[in-house]
Amino acid sequence: MTQTPLISTTKHLDHQVMTTPAPALAIDAQRIIKRFGTGPLAFQALTDVDFQVARGELVMLVGPSGSGKTTLLSILGCVLRPTSGEVRLFGQDVARLKDSDLPAFRSAVIGFVFQGHNLIASLTARDNIAMISRLRGRSSRQARAEADDLLAQVGLADKRKRRPNELSGGQRQRVAIARALAGDPPLVFADEPTAALDATTGHEVTQLLVELAKVHSSTVVIVTHDNRIFHLADRIVGIEDGRIVEGEIHGVSGAQTQVHQHGVHS
Ligand code: ADP
Ligand code: MG
Repeated sequence: MTQTPLISTTKHLDHQVMTTPAPALAIDAQRIIKRFGTGPLAFQALTDVDFQVARGELVMLVGPSGSGKTTLLSILGCVLRPTSGEVRLFGQDVARLKDSDLPAFRSAVIGFVFQGHNLIASLTARDNIAMISRLRGRSSRQARAEADDLLAQVGLADKRKRRPNELSGGQRQRVAIARALAGDPPLVFADEPTAALDATTGHEVTQLLVELAKVHSSTVVIVTHDNRIFHLADRIVGIEDGRIVEGEIHGVSGAQTQVHQHGVHS
């Protein structure tokens, strides 16, 4: 494994990111186009997407299946490169980072909660969280302490020695939330984090993610269909057919669309 160089590069990038004159925007994506494939089989998943998120803002990204939500999150999360357009995270132009530096940048800056929990099966809940905390520069003692603290915050203090297969789906997703927040990444992305859970458990888990992200002052983008938590968003952004939707958002009531209009642009 390349763990040691990863940690030192992470610190380097972290430092670089945090000492640029504090830009107001955590995310500034301009004119993003993403095409998959080439020639007649090419498919354009994103078209001219502008997406800005202020520091500390909590945005929910809403749109039908296939509309480009995961693609957009992957580009913002430096997992995919856009075909064209510019992504800045805390002022850092992501295109200027070498492929070899991206994993370190990503782990320093972004905590992910995926659709599935993606926990490591052989590690306990505590070690799954502590591992990420270590990657973000904590000592092993600090990482263990932080893991226990986060487990308490997600209501799983007594489950820290359990492995993923000894936890329920909702509990696993709570561990995944704790892991995303470990080491306090400035950005947290969640892509339909409750897709594999029943509605009630899913709702509780998303609510927990929102509350914890606020406590940790993270900037958050959540892809979700759960309209019961829309009121917890600072802003709701719609996406359809790879384009950001202005005004009325599919599946979001008029009152909630108001939230959208009080965003960064107002
Ligand atoms: P969502 O997350 O909103 O359901 P996605 O971002 O996953 O949508 O996908 C948007 C569109 O791009 C879909 O039509 C999907 O089939 C297509 N797509 C996504 N990834 C790829 C890929 N690697 N190759 C080709 N097409 C893709
Ligand atoms: Mg998706």
